[in-house]
Amino acid sequence: MKRKYLVFVLMLIIVFVSFSRSAFAMSYESDHDLQAYLTVEDRVVNKATDWFVQNYGEFYEIEDLHASLVRSFNNQLKTRYTVAIHCMTRLKAESPAELPFIRGLYDAVKDKRDDTRPLKAAVDYYAVEIVDFSKDLSPLSVDIVIPVDNETKDVNTAEIYIQDGNTTTLYPAVDYELDAQKLYLSGKNSVDEVYSAYQTAQSSARGFSDYNRIAARDYALAWVGSNVVGCYDHPLGCSILQDRTKWNNSVYYYNSNLVHDDCADFVSQAMSAGGLPEDGSSGSTWFRVKYTYTMAWGAPWTNVAYMLPYMTSSAHQFWDSSSFAVCNAGNILLTESDHVVMITLNDTVTHRYTGHTNDKKGVDFYDEAGYQYYAIKTT
Ligand SMILES: [Zn+2]
Repeated sequence: MKRKYLVFVLMLIIVFVSFSRSAFAMSYESDHDLQAYLTVEDRVVNKATDWFVQNYGEFYEIEDLHASLVRSFNNQLKTRYTVAIHCMTRLKAESPAELPFIRGLYDAVKDKRDDTRPLKAAVDYYAVEIVDFSKDLSPLSVDIVIPVDNETKDVNTAEIYIQDGNTTTLYPAVDYELDAQKLYLSGKNSVDEVYSAYQTAQSSARGFSDYNRIAARDYALAWVGSNVVGCYDHPLGCSILQDRTKWNNSVYYYNSNLVHDDCADFVSQAMSAGGLPEDGSSGSTWFRVKYTYTMAWGAPWTNVAYMLPYMTSSAHQFWDSSSFAVCNAGNILLTESDHVVMITLNDTVTHRYTGHTNDKKGVDFYDEAGYQYYAIKTT
């Protein structure tokens, strides 16, 4: 009730402000766009927010949206503004069968002429396991970049880009807009991949059958900053975005030796919360001592270069190769050979990860060249 009241009051204020602006505009500046009264920065934030709400609003209800200008970079001709948007989303679909990607999978099964029972079983399995309806609200973060011409300051015609959470790569937003038809076709084209993942899940000795991927996902979502705009430890002159007040420091003591380099430590903590067993206490095993300030940990816990061979080794076989379409929440994404994050959502509409080094919570990601996916458990 309280929140509804607050929203109502806010809307009244917005209506009042818009009304007074338009009254002012009509009486004095009737030819001017209302946008002219806003700064370039405000117009950039508005443009990014409009795109975001329009893009994700088709599939999700959006709550608690925060949009803030986190960076601007002037390269003489243009100023590149980065708007960080964070919100909570709730899928509008009420069952997996309502999702275009899953409808595409089922139609691909129908199109096959031979015995489709094993395929149908694979798609049924996928529809249940991949789409996580157990938690109805899920965090979503997107960085939107808008370069504005320094001379014209024309925000209206400026292009919109999405920035990858880990690199400086910019993707034209128009190429990545959510589209039911595109998702449907992508589902249709993914049926063989889904079938092969299903067979692997049935037969592979790899993976850890007791792994609770939902507990791992929830751990990751619980212990990360969102909408972080600076570095907690170095408020001046540090480009890393981290908020260690949000970390699980009472169990895994904050250790300055891991600062700005704790992506593997964070994913290890989440996998441990999911029940993956620690072993040993030597530098080559996967463990970290809890509840005390110490540098007692094994390299596979804190360093991706040791984590990957450890988790995939024939001795442990905890990680099994996976792929963009089938890798689901609680499982692993390496965006680079030295950066690891946890996948915290795959509902077939968006794929999101959560990670440290830069605190990132629910970042929408795409299947980029070089990304490596690993499943600890697909069910
Ligand atoms: Zn810093």
